[in-house]
This record gives sequence, C-alpha cells and structure tokens, in this order.
Amino acid sequence: MTTKTPCQQCGVNIEFDVEQANQFVACPSCSQQTRLLLSRPKPSAPDPKIKSEAKRAGRDGDSVIASILACFGLVDILFGIMGGAFIIYDRRDFPLGVAIIAAGLLAGCVLLGFASLIEHTKASAERLRRIELVLARP
Ligand SMILES: [Zn+2]
Repeated sequence: MTTKTPCQQCGVNIEFDVEQANQFVACPSCSQQTRLLLSRPKPSAPDPKIKSEAKRAGRDGDSVIASILACFGLVDILFGIMGGAFIIYDRRDFPLGVAIIAAGLLAGCVLLGFASLIEHTKASAERLRRIELVLARP
C-alpha cells in the first residue's frame, strides 16, 4: 500500500510505500532529506493569513469601543436611577425623578445597543472574511 506525504523542504508530494514510513529519503524534486510521514502533520497552527485577517477585522479597536460604550451605558442607567431616586426622595419631585430615571435608562439602553451592534457587525464581518478566505483557497 502506498501513500503520499509532502516533502518537508519543498512541499512536493512524495509517494511511498507505507512500510517506508518514518524513513529519511532524498526528495525526488529538491533532493534534500525529508522524512516519510504517514499522516500529514496535524492541521497545525491556524493559517497565519486567516489569523492576521481576523485580527485586522478589528478585534482590538472595535472591542474596546464596544466595551467603553457598554460601560457608559451601565453607568448611565445607574446614575439615572440614583439621580431620579434622590430627586424623588429629597425634593419630592416625582415627575422630574421619574423623567431622570427614564432618561438614564433610555440613554443607557441606547449605548448598550450600540455596543452590541458593534460587536455583532464585527463578528459577522470576521465570519464573512473567513468564509471568503476559505473559498479563495485553491
Ligand atoms: Zn523536496
């Protein structure tokens, strides 16, 4: 039974008998020493191209912006509730307090929404790019 292995020097496929596995031979193409491996080396480290592309898709920048927005959103909600509660309690101005709470919640939700939108867009852009890369490969 024969199988194939890529030359470790030039990558050309070398056909050999499985009984010769793990022997070192001279590659017929580049004539350098290469080992006859039975199974191709595990799909080692992800394609560096894909890796760098994924990185370029903006993991760093966009994630930071999304996190900051999310933080602002939470702080907004917190301050809205606290401020509103304080005004209701301290000034007995119920409508104003409720308005402040509502405004805080609204602004906070908008910020959180933006944050998740950024994350979503980023994730799908990354996925698209990966698919493109896989399709573009020979
Ligand atoms: Zn070779």
